[in-house]
Amino acid sequence: MISLIKGFRDIAPPDVELWQHVEATARKLFSDFGFSEIRLPIMEKTELFARGIGADTDIVEKEMYTFTDRGGEMLTLRPEATAGVARAYIEHNMAAVDPVRKLFTTGPMFRRERPQKGRFRQFYQLNAELFGVPGPAADVQAILLLVTLLKRLDTPDVTVHLNSLGCPECRPAYKALLTEYVAARSAALCENCVRRGSTNPLRVLDCKAPDCRVAMIGAPAISEHLCPACREHFALVTEGLGALGIQFELNPRLVRGLDYYTRTTFEVQTTSLGAQNAVAGGGRYDGLLEALGGPPTPAVGFAIGMDRLLELLAENGAKVEPRALVFLACLGDDAQKLGFSWLCALNLAGVAAEMDFFGRSLKSQMKRADRLGARYVLMLGGDELNNRAAVLRNMATKEQEPVPFASLVETVAARLSAA
Ligand SMILES: [Zn+2]
Ligand SMILES: [Zn+2]
Repeated sequence: MISLIKGFRDIAPPDVELWQHVEATARKLFSDFGFSEIRLPIMEKTELFARGIGADTDIVEKEMYTFTDRGGEMLTLRPEATAGVARAYIEHNMAAVDPVRKLFTTGPMFRRERPQKGRFRQFYQLNAELFGVPGPAADVQAILLLVTLLKRLDTPDVTVHLNSLGCPECRPAYKALLTEYVAARSAALCENCVRRGSTNPLRVLDCKAPDCRVAMIGAPAISEHLCPACREHFALVTEGLGALGIQFELNPRLVRGLDYYTRTTFEVQTTSLGAQNAVAGGGRYDGLLEALGGPPTPAVGFAIGMDRLLELLAENGAKVEPRALVFLACLGDDAQKLGFSWLCALNLAGVAAEMDFFGRSLKSQMKRADRLGARYVLMLGGDELNNRAAVLRNMATKEQEPVPFASLVETVAARLSAA
């Protein structure tokens, strides 16, 4: 027997129904907010991620599935979606039609992380990206969309964490301060942080190692070192969120792992999943499109980790009611033959229906109807064929009624939709 690859999984019934519910809720809401879907390939040139995510990140350094294809090209299974959406925005010159574009995408991403509970090497994300709006309204709209979606899904214990990472005007001076602070404490830091201290000191703020956390407690906060323009932008974002009644916590340690973020950065955290507490994250990435060879384009977006979100919802008792179903219990060859044509007619009329294909006893057919959670059983035997009327049994109340063949589909459809 050939089994799954380690760190990969199937999402099968009945779990998949909650996934479909989440996706349908998201599609509706994204459309209300003016977002269109974009479907991207799951493979891109390796260079896209090296440039778009940053060469000295965990993702690019050690987690990507990269290989050389038969033509000698370096390709990578996408570890995240934003770089691909940005590539598409540039490649199709979307700005020429309308520089303001709102796009969402959903699908599998791939990272070769250490497998552990709730973390998969093929995982799913739901991404929203808003291009072309430099002002704080775009940041506010992105956060409102994210928070509203999580609220509609009844996600428990969520908190929005908010920070500003500054811009190319003000971040270099802050980075220099932080580099100094990190260098003075290198003896207390983990190997990764020591190495990144000089190239990417912001990442040290983000390190989960307990010693690094302690060492960074007194580190300078970027909020104290923003330029006037960044300070104003951030003030307007917090003001906009306040006006919408969205609660948030200022978190000066929130830096995100990716190099292209500027100004607003945010994360939705939950206390329900232990250490892996970020369900979604995002922010502004005004520098990315230019870094990828496109025109300078302001952009803001977020990604929801679907695997964690679904785990959280399931833990919270979220369930999707199975669809109301009618089971056709047929006794004898003639009844079975007629039953099959009713089954097809019901399915074509949009009624969920199932039947027995093996000529089993009424008792075992009723058992299967029960197992399938059928709300009604339509019984068809010799008497029913003679009377040209089947018997419809309500499985909850045990009530039975004759249903003439002439109005069978309509009657069953009406009873099921009332159930
Ligand atoms: Zn600035
Ligand atoms: Zn560290």
